[in-house]
Amino acid sequence: MDDLIATEKLKATIPEILEEIQKEIAPLLSMGQVANYIPELGDVDQNQFGMVVRFLDGTTFETGNSQTNFSIQSISKVFSLTQAFALLKENLWNRLGKEPSGNPFNSLIQLENENGKPRNPFINAGAIVIADIITHHFEDPLNTILDFMREVTFNKKLTINMNVLQSEKNYGHRNAALAHFMKSYGNIYSEVEEVLDVYFGHCSVEMNCFDLATAFLYLANHGVHPLNGKTYLNASQTKRLNALMLTCGTYDSAGEFAFKVGLPGKSGVGGGIAGIIPGLLSIAVWSPGLDKCGNSLAGTKALELFTTKTGISIF
Ligand code: GLU
Repeated sequence: MDDLIATEKLKATIPEILEEIQKEIAPLLSMGQVANYIPELGDVDQNQFGMVVRFLDGTTFETGNSQTNFSIQSISKVFSLTQAFALLKENLWNRLGKEPSGNPFNSLIQLENENGKPRNPFINAGAIVIADIITHHFEDPLNTILDFMREVTFNKKLTINMNVLQSEKNYGHRNAALAHFMKSYGNIYSEVEEVLDVYFGHCSVEMNCFDLATAFLYLANHGVHPLNGKTYLNASQTKRLNALMLTCGTYDSAGEFAFKVGLPGKSGVGGGIAGIIPGLLSIAVWSPGLDKCGNSLAGTKALELFTTKTGISIF
């Protein structure tokens, strides 16, 4: 009962807090650098910012460009990981580690030192192994992941941006190198090209902040999506996935992100970041200008301001 009253009190403060955040991050919008290693991503107007907070009962607060679609990129790794983890359970960790990498997300050197076993599922090599697991188990792997995303967002129209996909394929030499390298160690079962199509495909999906916050609600609710009652992971697996987001979800500045924001979150080079507060809410921000580690500059600040102003975090 006390919890309920506290949650209702918190909700009442959110509209004003979002308004303040939007004002405070405005000077940062022009300071980040839009990702340009894929030309298609470099064309996005960086003067945009959106934010959505969704409570477990579906109550929603939003501000800015919260309904504008963007490329979710690495955030999609959370959804493919969910499916692979549900499938292989603890056996998943025979093929992947669970330690932060401390190296760039597409590093080859670390992979060589560790015999083709990626440090964690959120660096590119790890996510490519996950894509391989899905490819190995499902007849139509990419659509299996897409259908999952459509289900957890409740957005049947969710789709891949074909221009981004083409761009990823044209410029994906390093990811191809990672995949071939892991195949040489026997850690990729299917054909590299097929696996990369799945990986690039799920990275090229577009969502808006509302979709993302909706999708992350199962992670805030011990694996059960509160809006459809379906279980996607058990409570222990959800704890593990959230722990991985906290330690490995924001490239090699996960320590700094945990320090400043205090929430498990996953970022993507499209400028999105999604996170959760267990038992309470999910939160998604988007602003395309990135900091030097590849996380949205204004988005990270917005999340830091959110946990500071509300006084809630996981710590
Ligand atoms: N598809 C991107 C890549 O593999 C993901 C980048 C990201 O958001 O980290 O390079």
